[in-house]
Amino acid sequence: MRSTNRGLPTYNSAAFERNPVLPLCLPMIRHLKSPDLFEAIDRLPALGTPVSDQVFEVRNPSSGEVLAELPNMGVEEARAAIDKAYTAQPRWAALTARERSDVLWRWHELIIDQADDLAAILTAEMGKPFAEAKSEVSHAAAYLQWYAEEANRIYGETIPAPSIDRRMMVIKQPIGVVGTITPWNFPASMVARKISPALAAGCAIVLKPAEQTPLVAGAMFALAHQAGFPEGVINLVYASEGDAVGRELCSNPKVRKISFTGSTEVGRLLMRQCSDQIKKVSLELGGNAPFIVFDDADIDAAVDGAIQAKFRNAGHTCVSANRLYVQSTVHDEFVEKFVEKVRHLSVGDGFAAGVDIGPLIDRHALAKIESHIADAVAKGGIIRCGAERIGRVGTFFRPTVLTEISSIMAVAQEETFGPLAPIIRFEGADQVVREANDTIYGLAAYFYASNLKRVWRVAEALEYGMVGINTGRMSSEAAPFGGIKQSGIGREGSRHGLEDYLEMKYLCMGGI
Ligand code: NAP
Repeated sequence: MRSTNRGLPTYNSAAFERNPVLPLCLPMIRHLKSPDLFEAIDRLPALGTPVSDQVFEVRNPSSGEVLAELPNMGVEEARAAIDKAYTAQPRWAALTARERSDVLWRWHELIIDQADDLAAILTAEMGKPFAEAKSEVSHAAAYLQWYAEEANRIYGETIPAPSIDRRMMVIKQPIGVVGTITPWNFPASMVARKISPALAAGCAIVLKPAEQTPLVAGAMFALAHQAGFPEGVINLVYASEGDAVGRELCSNPKVRKISFTGSTEVGRLLMRQCSDQIKKVSLELGGNAPFIVFDDADIDAAVDGAIQAKFRNAGHTCVSANRLYVQSTVHDEFVEKFVEKVRHLSVGDGFAAGVDIGPLIDRHALAKIESHIADAVAKGGIIRCGAERIGRVGTFFRPTVLTEISSIMAVAQEETFGPLAPIIRFEGADQVVREANDTIYGLAAYFYASNLKRVWRVAEALEYGMVGINTGRMSSEAAPFGGIKQSGIGREGSRHGLEDYLEMKYLCMGGI
């Protein structure tokens, strides 16, 4: 964090008044069809976002170049944003469901219209290949569409009363102001997945996006303003470190709920901070997903599924396969085919043609993957491919496969969150289910098998919120996404996602 800039635009109010439409960064504009979106982000302070004199840099992980400097907001700005949301929320909730739905629809359409530019911003700040970034933007738009539709289906219920002179019913009402905190790995879809059900329900929100990837959130907010959300309903707080803003969101009584996606460690902290006010929480946290290949599986399909589940988004995915278990009788065949495909994955700048894997988000991510490899090798693991950095610029790492992995290694116990696939050999179904469940996490699991009896038994025995059967990818706006155990509380997506932003009120009418 710095308090001056080096000729790049900042958002402090004086600079903003001097030049209200300073584009954020030239390197990114190279990839944009039109710089209008940047100008819109630049105008965000005038549209109601609080301003700060402090700035922090956003960098491109492929090149290290500074993309933008943003205002580094703190408690004061967070409090101002909460006040705005608190004032605006009752008016937003008082609109008809159809009116709220219409604004969400318009936002969805604007995001579809600007998908290329949003994807370019996403690739520039996060590094993922442009095609993946576009797919993420479509996924984000799909959540807006889904909840624009769900806004019209917030039904209550009537209850047959136990006495003749009473009528009993349940109505659903918005929780109020929601504080939302999102991570850097899916900076567009996480914003949409949290905000759209909250807005559909009639809540107002304050969002703090991750320090590394705030620009696409800014762009989405600029489009939201164009879509016509009333002043104060959505509020953006940029911060280089989440703790001060997080504490304010958790301790301010005007905020009635916290919705967080990120690490289990920070999730625990936020839950503790919310406990004084018994504030509601939705937590989408870390995982340690097992990916199991049984001997009756279609091995080629399992190899393709493992590539998807492991290397999508450079392994920076909460539902990423963290441990691959392969039954002994098909182990060697799987390893040979898998390693062959992994060797052909191309690593590079997300804007280059044909790139499968972009850079890791930062040097901490590089250090973590290297420490997991070193630990595994020291305990008998074998490197089958990869395990090295690429080039001196950026944070590129060759996708890696390790075999002869055992449960005592860090790679089997902790979330690596990078392009590293450790393979563990197993003998029987009971053993592998026991080992797969032996973790504090319970977000996602995958397995490949064809025997129906086995498919049902294993699916039911895995202690996870989501299980992919003969597929390496399962996220959808139509499905409830979320974990059990220390992977979280609540669900996002589907009709269930809306319930997390609604309170149930029981009405009892007597004397009838
Ligand atoms: P993180 O360090 O927990 O950060 C997530 C967000 O929390 C960021 O916006 C961060 O802000 C903020 N934050 C950090 N410390 C905070 C504090 N003390 N109080 C309030 N906010 C704070 O996680 P990450 O490294 O960005 O994301 C990776 C993790 O997220 C992985 O564990 C992954 O599995 C998990 N994840 C889970 C899901 C899911 O749906 N279950 C989805 C995606 C990711 P700053 O960036 O400003 O520090």
